[in-house]
Amino acid sequence: MSGHRLRHRLAAWARASLLAGLALSVSADAADVPVYRAQGLDAPTVNFVLGNFEFVLLHELAHVVIGELKVPVLGPEENAADYLAATALLNTTRDDPVSYRRANTWLLAAAEGLRLSWTAGTARAGKLPYWNNHSLNIQRFYSIACLLYGNDRKVYADLPAAIGMPASRAAGCAAEWQKADQSFHWLLDNFGRKPAEAPGPEIAIIYDVPQTLVAAELLRAVQSDGMVERVAAAMRERIILPRKIALHMRSCGRPEAAWQPERQELVLCFELLDALYKLSDSRQPGFSRSGSMQLLQFPAVAGADQGGCRATAAEIHLGA
Ligand SMILES: [Zn+2]
Repeated sequence: MSGHRLRHRLAAWARASLLAGLALSVSADAADVPVYRAQGLDAPTVNFVLGNFEFVLLHELAHVVIGELKVPVLGPEENAADYLAATALLNTTRDDPVSYRRANTWLLAAAEGLRLSWTAGTARAGKLPYWNNHSLNIQRFYSIACLLYGNDRKVYADLPAAIGMPASRAAGCAAEWQKADQSFHWLLDNFGRKPAEAPGPEIAIIYDVPQTLVAAELLRAVQSDGMVERVAAAMRERIILPRKIALHMRSCGRPEAAWQPERQELVLCFELLDALYKLSDSRQPGFSRSGSMQLLQFPAVAGADQGGCRATAAEIHLGA
């Protein structure tokens, strides 16, 4: 598909989603967006979960790169990790129309996840974690939306108004994207693998067995997509880490993902899949079962010590 045609279709799709009154819904019938036939799970839900999950994976890998290569970070590392995840998603897929469309769709899903998480937290009257090293979810939502808009102001022309982003912020999104984009390329120029260099140490991928049927179904979707393998391969192609690491999907007892440098392991908890599934429920008008569900909580509710991103600490990305 030509770049022009892709842009046209993306714009039409973005408009359709926005005008449907679902500011950032992930459209199930958008052409070219992968649809997974997970048993008992509808395609929009699966795509919502996969989009959020890949964003979390990339965010965590940004922590891996920053920590392992001692990349200077001028500002909060959590913000840098969000910006790196977003720019990596868009920049590494730009040459392939299908991948680029999926990246846009899934980044929208990640933004929507943060917005829903914020809404769920405020509905529960959770104490706002102003002290947290992550920005508030609603701020992370607007930052990702700003990057999407800044990356392509034609496709996302309707986005700022649809989500209530003031013109003053929207006006700066192109420059904001440009800085994030430059930083991404600066990182690769200074810390990336050179063309003649051999690939770095292996990145192992380990899947345990989920404890819930929902997580099992969603894990099948993750594996069917090949997301973890694809991201690991792309990472290894571009960055040489100083030592082996493992990406480990397992049960943790909490919905989180965390880089644990002392174990050389990035843990992606199955509970995160369950939590994202529950969160996706709140994006279906008229079909909410969330009244009986434990939605993701603010750290102040779930335990203030869970929101950190210290070198060895676990973190809750969607709840913080
Ligand atoms: Zn983080």
